[in-house]
Amino acid sequence: STLYKVDGWGAPYFAVNDNGNVTVKPHGDRTMVHQDIDLLKVVKKASDSKADGGLGLGFPIIVRFPDVLKDRLECLQTAFNYAVKSNGFNSHYQGVYPVKCNQDRFVVEDVVKFGSGFRFGLEAGSKPELLLAMSSLCKGSSESLLICNGFKDSEYISLALIARKLKLNTVIVLEQEEELDLVIDMSVKLGVRPVVGVRAKLRTKHSGHFGSTSGEKGKFGLTTTQIIRVVKKLDQCGMLDCFQLLHFHIGSQIPTTGLLADGVREASQIYCELVRLGADMKVIDIGGGLGIDYDGSKSSNGDVSVEYGLEEYAMAVVQAVKFVCDRNNVKHPVICSESGRAIVSHHSVLIFEAVSSSKYTVPAMSAFDVQHFVERLPEDAHSDYANLSQSAVKGDYEGCLLYAEQLKERCVGMFKDGSLDIEQLASVDGLCDLVAKAIGVANPVSTYHVNLSVFTSVPDFWGIQQVFPILPIHRLDECPAKRGILSDLTCDSDGKIDKFIGGESSLPLHELEGANGMKYYLGMFLGGAYEEALGGVHNLFGGPSVVRVSQSDGPFGFAVTRAVPGPSCSDVLRVMQHEPEIMFETLKHRIEEYVHDEGNIGGAMIAGGIAQSFHNMPYLTVGSSCGLTAAI
Ligand code: PLP
Repeated sequence: STLYKVDGWGAPYFAVNDNGNVTVKPHGDRTMVHQDIDLLKVVKKASDSKADGGLGLGFPIIVRFPDVLKDRLECLQTAFNYAVKSNGFNSHYQGVYPVKCNQDRFVVEDVVKFGSGFRFGLEAGSKPELLLAMSSLCKGSSESLLICNGFKDSEYISLALIARKLKLNTVIVLEQEEELDLVIDMSVKLGVRPVVGVRAKLRTKHSGHFGSTSGEKGKFGLTTTQIIRVVKKLDQCGMLDCFQLLHFHIGSQIPTTGLLADGVREASQIYCELVRLGADMKVIDIGGGLGIDYDGSKSSNGDVSVEYGLEEYAMAVVQAVKFVCDRNNVKHPVICSESGRAIVSHHSVLIFEAVSSSKYTVPAMSAFDVQHFVERLPEDAHSDYANLSQSAVKGDYEGCLLYAEQLKERCVGMFKDGSLDIEQLASVDGLCDLVAKAIGVANPVSTYHVNLSVFTSVPDFWGIQQVFPILPIHRLDECPAKRGILSDLTCDSDGKIDKFIGGESSLPLHELEGANGMKYYLGMFLGGAYEEALGGVHNLFGGPSVVRVSQSDGPFGFAVTRAVPGPSCSDVLRVMQHEPEIMFETLKHRIEEYVHDEGNIGGAMIAGGIAQSFHNMPYLTVGSSCGLTAAI
């Protein structure tokens, strides 16, 4: 666990047990009632065939722990409750979950269910997100906020106004000044008194990757001039009482509480000014940005870590709002935050298999082979080889490397010219590898091929080089003998993971062969936010299978409460407008023609095998027999 820094980024949910397996404590520090869940047992249950008592799901698999989600929500609320009480703050905290972080139906429903006791609401940034938030909140608390962010057209605004009619506590947050005219028009047409908020463009700038849209020149929000125009227009329409919320978002992964407090103070000052101008202000919405510590370093490098926890975050916010409101003699507002990453990241773990590894193998070249090669060396390369040999005799390792490199370069050139054959070139490569190995600089990093698509399951690594904790979920009582990078199934050079937490360019990994016939399973942790929604279908790899797991009293200490296989080949083909049924008919027809021409060669079995391939997930079905193989 030290090697992979599990205690740093994983506590209190993830640890390693005496058997060397990753364990999960879904309730965190809160309860000791149940035994910890052994992640390997969950993976076996999910992936073993039905005949072996498993659920027969294909890899990759997302294991969700709804209790972790519940704990994160409760911890956030508790942190704010404490900060409110200890600072004598005269209002309360009431958060919303931005559904864009993970729109999965069960994640959203869980947030609403777990948060209804403390009025936790939802944030939407588009029409479909608003529709899902509206229907989900119907089952929650009527006081929960429904924050409508994002660019809006009249349909979006009508939906938000209808939501208000349906007694959902909906706030339309103006992202652009032009949206105000639509809100005024539509609310008159629909006969609904809207509650309006404004997203302020703050001067406070977050300099990390996620803050590139913050600051005065940021993409989103209204400037002070625009905010004043909004106040005037609402006043002219007799609707200034509708203006009740001030929102800002300075970016995800805010690195320090200093920067956070700076932003909150600036926004609180705008809030107080709006009160002075006559708006009926009630809520300050501090957006998202509550960061998580991906590498366990608790440092201010916002891209991988933040230097604060939930308690320090809540304390900084409450103190900043209180300070500014007290200075202006303004009633304390309800504090709302839109934390997404901090709520959902921990609750899901992506599990995938390493299926092979490219081992660094020193070619077995005897002195005879070397001699044989040297005899075949073309005239032009003799001087390089002589220099290489002399350097070796003198123990000049740098010289060895240099001349080996020169020899190789010259021979590759000759191969391209057609004056060297492929066996000779292979011998040159082998000789150079031998030299590198002999002086201890051979590349010791292996490539582990993993049954995964980086583009589908870890898009933030591909897009913004976001690192996540990745480690084997078992064999952690064995010292890993190798270091490796992970290469995925896509035919794309970007389909690899070669950056890891701690600034490492490779990961300590075990020999695949040493697992006593057991497969080698890796877990990617803290990826519950953004990854699922951002993932695409590059190479037509679809999403993973998903299981939901809760602690239970049974013999295994857990129960799978839901299991959904990942999209099949047909499903992903449909995403790109193909029609698998028609495709299958075309292929069947071709098989019939073939059978007709060649005689009976088991056409029905081949057709059955192809049908099965449409039905299977696009990933490797390692070890299990497929219909096609049987047919052929
Ligand atoms: N609110 C808004 C307006 C956002 O743009 C975002 C994401 O960037 C969030 C909330 C969620 O932020 P985070 O996941 O950092 O909490």
